[in-house]
Amino acid sequence: MDKQEIFDVIIGGSYAGLLATITLGPSLRRMLIIDGGLPYNRQTPHAHYFITPNGIKPSEILKKAKSQVLGYETVSFINDVALKGNKSAENFDAIHACLPFTQHSDIPAQLNGSISEQGLIQVDAMQKTKSNGLFACGDNSTQIRSIASAVATGIMAGAMANLEPREERFLNKLK
Ligand SMILES: Cc1cc2nc3c(=O)[nH]c(=O)nc-3n(C[C@H](O)[C@H](O)[C@H](O)COP(=O)(O)OP(=O)(O)OC[C@H]3O[C@@H](n4cnc5c(N)ncnc54)[C@H](O)[C@@H]3O)c2cc1C
Repeated sequence: MDKQEIFDVIIGGSYAGLLATITLGPSLRRMLIIDGGLPYNRQTPHAHYFITPNGIKPSEILKKAKSQVLGYETVSFINDVALKGNKSAENFDAIHACLPFTQHSDIPAQLNGSISEQGLIQVDAMQKTKSNGLFACGDNSTQIRSIASAVATGIMAGAMANLEPREERFLNKLK
């Protein structure tokens, strides 16, 4: 498979988005992270409940994580806010991370993702929305707002986004 064949867009490059990216990154995919640089815990001096870096400054966790993720040559990063989503390619994957209860943007809705009564993006156990190729992870889709939960759902979203096009290609070959 050509590296250019799949291009994933990760909207939100904080805990959840970065974990989703490294889950996808080492494989043969090109990826773009778009991040507005406003993580939910940006104003707190210490991050707790996350093992090993417990109590350190949240921005330190993100700085280190970002430098590791951008070490993959397949991953590009833009410091900006994504305003619109459009499914123009067959293998479209977007992983959106933003504030809970009120989503930062209506991109999930534009891409036909369902929003719950609580304002969360609705996902199944695999972090998949009802819209094909659209995954959500982190605070945007759970009431358990923590770094640990964000990275756990990020890894699931990344793994499933990686798997889905392969499964589709396999099933298409069987037809
Ligand atoms: C004061 C405070 C203290 C906290 N303390 C702790 C703690 O001690 N331990 C703990 O585990 N959790 C803590 N939390 C919770 C923790 O911060 C969140 O659970 C965590 O940041 C969620 O990660 P995330 O990746 O889902 O989203 P976020 O970290 O909020 O990151 C979302 C990213 O997406 C970007 N973004 C959003 N929309 C767009 C768009 N349209 N285009 C481009 N980029 C976009 C934002 O700019 C941001 O960078 C705290 C939260 C607060 C507010």
